[in-house]
Amino acid sequence: MKLFAQTQLLEDVQGKGLCVGCGACVDLCPYFTTYRGKTAMLFPCDRETGRCFAYCPKAEVDYDEVYKARTGRAFDGTPIGPHLETYKAKAGEKTAECTFQCGGTVTALISCALDNKMISGAVLTDSEGRMPKPRLVRTSEQARDCAGSKYSASPTLSVLNREAKRGVRNMGVVATPCQALAISQMKMNPTDKPDFEDPVSLVIGLFCTWALDARKLEALLAEKGIEGKIIKADVPPPPAEVFVVETDQGTVEIPLSEVREIIPEGCSICPDMTSELADVSVGQVEGEAGFNTLIIRTQKGAELVKTAISQGYLVTENLEGDKIHNLATASANKKKRALAKAKEMGLLNTPDEEGRAAMRVSEGALNKIQP
Ligand SMILES: Cc1cc2nc3c(=O)[nH]c(=O)nc-3n(C[C@H](O)[C@H](O)[C@H](O)COP(=O)(O)OP(=O)(O)OC[C@H]3O[C@@H](n4cnc5c(N)ncnc54)[C@H](O)[C@@H]3O)c2cc1C
Ligand code: SF4
Ligand code: SF4
Repeated sequence: MKLFAQTQLLEDVQGKGLCVGCGACVDLCPYFTTYRGKTAMLFPCDRETGRCFAYCPKAEVDYDEVYKARTGRAFDGTPIGPHLETYKAKAGEKTAECTFQCGGTVTALISCALDNKMISGAVLTDSEGRMPKPRLVRTSEQARDCAGSKYSASPTLSVLNREAKRGVRNMGVVATPCQALAISQMKMNPTDKPDFEDPVSLVIGLFCTWALDARKLEALLAEKGIEGKIIKADVPPPPAEVFVVETDQGTVEIPLSEVREIIPEGCSICPDMTSELADVSVGQVEGEAGFNTLIIRTQKGAELVKTAISQGYLVTENLEGDKIHNLATASANKKKRALAKAKEMGLLNTPDEEGRAAMRVSEGALNKIQP
């Protein structure tokens, strides 16, 4: 991993408009902060290497190195990444009802992990007004308060950093793919901190095609005259082409063509749709609103799912072959688009030793993704 620090993070990520506000560089030191959806520098830092640059999912990511450290295998470009099993899943009777995004699988798994003390707490994403608001929850009741997708990019990892600094360990995190990547880089202790202790013991990854700029989404909702408390936001499957916002005053549909205008540029070079570096990954099931697609990736993820089923938190069914095929096609297309864009922007595999790249991907993976 090539290590740099704040100056290069500002130049390569903030300066190129690639920041997705994941929060990985916030609350490590006094120099970065996050405010209403934006990550900003408060004071300059003169270190030559820093965790801010090392953790950032948009700065110098060596995919082979991170995948080997996290999964034991190099990044080979397979559409949905390393995994053990795939299922269709939803919350079982032990998980109390609330407004889940889809089947409630994420809330069910977090509740099971908390109730069984497999984790000491979980870093989740709640909301404050129309802004996503990360928080550490300690109980399944608090986990239910955070159910539902906030389609804005959220500085979730700032709370992970804050709690780790306070000495909290054995945390679970619900993360988008870029956040799962940042967590994997954190786990590598890239700056060789002598007193390093990994604070994360479980990562539940979400599928993600894009997130929205939080401030721009707030402005778009205001422009559309959308008032009241947001109960749920959703992106129904094609051919709908709308972003649906349900509030306590009614439901409004915004054309996706308008919504796509407020996707941060950093999402356009993101190759991961299914959170390949998580213990389990959860997304929608094409055409079945009350279910999730569940991908089990690690032994830890498999044990959690087994416990959740045996204790009634979770129910699983077979995932049909055509749904796996369609998911793989969508994931492969995201990889293809991301690599093409990174190449076009000069951010893929810069040739010389001194040059910095957003993404480093092996020749073999490149050939697989873009034959
Ligand atoms: C920005 C974004 C884009 C997504 N894009 C896709 C997609 O393209 N295809 C697809 O199949 N699924 C996508 N999802 C995932 C999907 O919307 C559901 O989150 C997933 O299916 C889990 O459903 P559930 O019923 O189990 O969730 P619930 O049980 O309702 O739990 C949702 C969990 O998501 C967490 N969360 C909410 N918002 C955020 C956020 N902004 N950042 C990090 N964590 C958050 C909460 O902490 C909560 O724990 C996306 C989610 C997000 C947040
Ligand atoms: S993408 Fe994340 S780690 Fe990188 S600059 Fe933005 S908030 Fe910081
Ligand atoms: S598309 Fe990628 S970079 Fe953008 S929010 Fe989703 S995971 Fe993060």
